[in-house]
Amino acid sequence: MNLVFLGPPGAGKGTMATRVSEHFKIPHISTGDIFRANIKGQTELGKKVKAILDAGDLVPDELTVELVKDRLSKDDAAAGFILDGFPRTIPQADALAGFSTVDQALNFVLPDEEVIKRLSGRRVHPGSGRTYHVLFSPPRTEGKDDVTGEDLVIRPDDQEDAIRNRLEVYKKQTQPLIAYYSERGLLVDVDSAPAPDEVFAQVLKILS
Ligand code: ADP
Ligand code: ADP
Repeated sequence: MNLVFLGPPGAGKGTMATRVSEHFKIPHISTGDIFRANIKGQTELGKKVKAILDAGDLVPDELTVELVKDRLSKDDAAAGFILDGFPRTIPQADALAGFSTVDQALNFVLPDEEVIKRLSGRRVHPGSGRTYHVLFSPPRTEGKDDVTGEDLVIRPDDQEDAIRNRLEVYKKQTQPLIAYYSERGLLVDVDSAPAPDEVFAQVLKILS
């Protein structure tokens, strides 16, 4: 089962990808998580992309495509995968079609004002990518990861200016992918507004 998760930043793609990954035992591949891990580890790639992520702009297609191509060639992706945050442009989608198939693209739909609420309350555990929300899914202890007890952080791109830019970038560069996958008969909308359990129930219904 080769899945693509589409939708604006903050729609809940990562949260659902984590659950779908556990349920179907297929890897959750988040290009954002891969970039952030490289920034944290101060790798060459991390140094190249840090300013781009902080501003909420897109990493160049060529670099991102190579990274995903390499990741999908690993054994654990042979029986299926969830691409969360990739493709984000038409050239990325065309490139993906050249080295893999897509069985379904799930489009997580959420209005802008909800996107802003979700992003401004998001907290993450940098080590694992586990995601919380100060109001909607708070950790057991404020500011601490449930599993490790380590500190949670606010992503630099979840500051107001970067959020606004990311929404613009999404509309210009990523939204055209809705028509792209729809024309190929692969798109299914998911209403991302309800609570996570309800969103997950919709996803399971689509995938089963
Ligand atoms: P994305 O990967 O699409 O950017 P996330 O999964 O990181 O989105 O979710 C963004 C924020 O919204 C996080 O703080 C997350 O805890 C919260 N969230 C995710 N799904 C829901 C939901 N269904 N209802 C309320 N809050 C949610
Ligand atoms: P969110 O789910 O909140 O939109 P992600 O974690 O998916 O954020 O992505 C964070 C950032 O990583 C993006 O704003 C962008 O700078 C970079 N990025 C992630 N995926 C891609 C991609 N497919 N193409 C280009 N840049 C990407």
